[in-house]
Amino acid sequence: MPLYVYEAKDAAKSCPKCRDGFEIMQRLADPKLDRCPYCRNPVFRAIQAPGLTHSKTDLHYRAKRAGFHTLKKVQKGEYEKLY
Ligand SMILES: [Zn+2]
Repeated sequence: MPLYVYEAKDAAKSCPKCRDGFEIMQRLADPKLDRCPYCRNPVFRAIQAPGLTHSKTDLHYRAKRAGFHTLKKVQKGEYEKLY
C-alpha cells in the first residue's frame, strides 16, 4: 500500500500530529483525506510517494524519528614520552 503524507492546511488550526505532517497508509482506491483523523481540521496531501518509501532519506528519517543517533567515536590517544 502506498504511504501518503498529509499536512495541516492552516498551522493555526492543527494538532501536533498534522502540524508537521503525518504518514498514513492508504489503498489506491481509498479517498483522499480532507480532514485530520486526530483533530478534524483541514489537511492536504503533501507527498504521494509510492515506490519512494524505501529511499535512503526515508530510512534516515525513520531512524532519526525512532531515536537512533549517529555517534562519533572519539578515541583518547595515549602517548609515551620518548627521550
Ligand atoms: Zn490534526
